[in-house]
Amino acid sequence: MWNCAISTARPSSDPRACALVNRFREIRASRLADETGTLHKQADLAFALCYPSPYHVGMSSLGFQSIYRSLHALPDSTAERAFLPDDVTEARRPSDGLCTYESGRPVADFPVVAFSLASELELAGVVTCLDLAGIPVLAAERSAHARTFPLVVLGGPLTFSNPVPAGPFADVIVMGEAEELLPALVQSLREQPDRETLLGDLACRPGFYVPSLHGETPPPVAIADDHYLPAYSQIITPHTELAGMFLIEAERGCSRGCAYCVMRRSAGGGMRPVSPERLLPLVPAEAQRVGLVGAAVTDHPALPEILRALVDAGRGVGVSSLRADRLDDELVGLLARGGYRTMTTAADGASQRLRDQVDRNTRVEDLLRAARLCRDHGMALLKLYVLIGLPGETAADIDELARLALELAAVAPKLSLTVSPFVSKRNTPLDHQPFEAIASLEEKLGFLRRQLRGRVRLGGDAPKWGWVEYRLAQGSFAEGLAAAQTARAGGGFAAWKRALGG
Ligand code: SF4
Repeated sequence: MWNCAISTARPSSDPRACALVNRFREIRASRLADETGTLHKQADLAFALCYPSPYHVGMSSLGFQSIYRSLHALPDSTAERAFLPDDVTEARRPSDGLCTYESGRPVADFPVVAFSLASELELAGVVTCLDLAGIPVLAAERSAHARTFPLVVLGGPLTFSNPVPAGPFADVIVMGEAEELLPALVQSLREQPDRETLLGDLACRPGFYVPSLHGETPPPVAIADDHYLPAYSQIITPHTELAGMFLIEAERGCSRGCAYCVMRRSAGGGMRPVSPERLLPLVPAEAQRVGLVGAAVTDHPALPEILRALVDAGRGVGVSSLRADRLDDELVGLLARGGYRTMTTAADGASQRLRDQVDRNTRVEDLLRAARLCRDHGMALLKLYVLIGLPGETAADIDELARLALELAAVAPKLSLTVSPFVSKRNTPLDHQPFEAIASLEEKLGFLRRQLRGRVRLGGDAPKWGWVEYRLAQGSFAEGLAAAQTARAGGGFAAWKRALGG
């Protein structure tokens, strides 16, 4: 059985430091007080379950919440949550380290520290959390003191694309869908006498990537049996972007084949829908708002039936992904009755030529119909996601995007265009495609800004952050180490550029 015993509490007599410590404790206490569904359990094997982004982001993650519940449900295992502090600069000053919400126990006192990683840029958050916890960031440094420092386990959506840059920090990476792997992990933790044997044991099991043994070649992702579906919220809190919303997985995976997407059909064998008979009874009576989560929820054949049951019961609804080609009067009417005021969908490619090229298949008429439905059902805003910088994109494609946006803006009550640079991901047909030069992407954005000024709201990630994401998405251990350097240098773009050598 795993144990470790260090205390990272750093008591200080400095009154400013004491005030900071008290403030962090107050924040945790007040958020806990506002939660419904928090779990408390004493068990021999305790996981510190960390999210490498702040509380409001982590608590919006259905995967994070689901793992929390699963660890509590296993015999003799428990979990407490910790998050990247809202203000990392302040948190790096003398404080009581990174502590869990449930008991205020230092994260480093747990035998296992587990992180859920959704995106490449959260790698810096992993480093910061470990630093704040007083745990050596590198697995190699920890292994020399294996009885002193916790085992660090990583998992989450990032494992579907490229978890290799996370390798230097992790003792073990849980690849893909974790539901079936967790009991195996817990069993191995209980049975193996020391870290070396444990890692050797896990490395032989499917779904576990042990970077110190596998090197930079991870094993394939695991896909959980359908009977584990759906994941659903354990804790409801007003302090998330989806304030107070109960989240439940309406389906997992996707049957479509967009060439840039890690969730395309090849990732998990297509869409696995959850039937209304299974989903609806899991919605608690007190849930006022219900969010249906999945990569392609609008492809669910029984979506209207599920939405109708929810809105007829007087609940608000949210759907995580609206495909424009699936929207019709019935569906949008149900969403409007469920309180929808912003219709969010994606065009992705800047022009029809590019959308066809990457198998996105959304057509102009689908988007125009979405704009009309948005207007006719009294919604306030149409929000459209677009990718620029796809392979082979020309000025003519960007010009077509500007014209399409103006056409949509003439129909929709208001239009907001969220433009992100294309980042090629591993395990997709567009893997290894280069990232367009930042200056060229900025020029295209400047053109769109001029064309759409006053008529369309333009937002999205700055291309420079797309470049960082690209370097990590295509990276190896070296890029992970650059993330560590950057996190300690404040996490700004200049620090990333220095560390990544761009
Ligand atoms: S972008 Fe959406 S529709 Fe396309 S493969 Fe990915 S999840 Fe499916």
